[in-house]
Amino acid sequence: MTGSAPKPPAKAPETVAAANGIGTDAAFGAVAPPLYLSSTFAFEGVEREGPYAYSRAANPSRDMLADTLAKLEGGAGALITASGMAAIDLSRRGADDLVVAPHDCYWGTYRLLAARAARRQFSVVFVDQADELAVALALEDSPSLLLIETPSNPLMRVVDIASLAEQAKAAGAAVAVDNTFLSPALQQPIRLGADYVIHSTTKYLNGHSDVVGGAVIAAYPGGLEGLSTWGTSTGVGGAPFDAYLTLRGVRSLFPRIERQQQTAGALAIFLVGHPAVKAVHYPGLPSHPSHALAARQQRGFGAMLSFELRGGLEAVRAFVGALRVFTLAESLGGIESLVAHPETMTHVGMSPEARATAGITSGLLRLSVGLEAETDLLADLDAGLHSVLANRPAGAAVPVQ
Ligand code: PLP
Repeated sequence: MTGSAPKPPAKAPETVAAANGIGTDAAFGAVAPPLYLSSTFAFEGVEREGPYAYSRAANPSRDMLADTLAKLEGGAGALITASGMAAIDLSRRGADDLVVAPHDCYWGTYRLLAARAARRQFSVVFVDQADELAVALALEDSPSLLLIETPSNPLMRVVDIASLAEQAKAAGAAVAVDNTFLSPALQQPIRLGADYVIHSTTKYLNGHSDVVGGAVIAAYPGGLEGLSTWGTSTGVGGAPFDAYLTLRGVRSLFPRIERQQQTAGALAIFLVGHPAVKAVHYPGLPSHPSHALAARQQRGFGAMLSFELRGGLEAVRAFVGALRVFTLAESLGGIESLVAHPETMTHVGMSPEARATAGITSGLLRLSVGLEAETDLLADLDAGLHSVLANRPAGAAVPVQ
């Protein structure tokens, strides 16, 4: 039989995460891609620059991570930055441009966009992106960028990426989606119409709470041109060692997040209907207002959830004081389970009015569910909730189930 060899099938994302770049070392055949810490690279001669010259501009370890993330997100290329905030800042526009951002985006994003707008570096408007009329009105002002973050932090609201991207494009705006909460294992915004995907790689992609980093992934080859020059000029590229560690984390992304979201679902069900709990926010619950949208748009419901305790800050103190497995800390997406109190931690800089509008109450707690045994995590929550009930002020009503 004659003819060319069949084209190898595209690799499954699990294979890309586990094996992209494995066994490609030409020098010694190292199986794990080597770490290149060098800040500078030798020229081959005068006017003969090699593939790399200076690590602020480009570095092989950073490029290996960029290539892997671009493949996982279905994009054409990626830039690796020193933090998630640096990645968001790269989406910066010109002075005449308008950015439309979610009213309930990550507080650091809100603060950064508002601060740059206050310095007249661009204009920003924050809208409830689940409100079709508010989005339509904002798009009438011809923004250059629509920034989406779904699910939102900390209330796990979900918005329709495909529909928003279609409307934004009709209005001439580029679309960037912060995919930090789900990772490409559970959501691929480029397939839904996004031009850019942004990550805090600090979270699920690295997954071990030992690196702060970020990434911007572009849907099409020209998408990174301006950003890349800007990144080199401002020096916001991630450190090679951080890229190496993050790629090591990416290797286990799929099994980690699959197991973590399975446990998160069990914890959400446990919390629903508990007498100490007022509300549970988890898109995997059929009662969640965007359950159907999340089921359609995501490949899973994720491992983040939040819930509201009855009894406000006092109840939060009693709950957290009884925990032995969850750690009270900011951040998310690591192998260890964390609990955060948005009002006094991640969202403390917001005005009380803005917090009230965003639905962040004193009793709200956010969980990042890790890889510990489900039984230990359930027992920990149970102990916390018992403590809340035991510390209830005398005469407080016990809600009827
Ligand atoms: N985007 C989201 C959704 C986040 O939760 C965070 C941090 O918590 C960031 C961006 C910022 O990332 P970093 O802390 O890596 O700068």
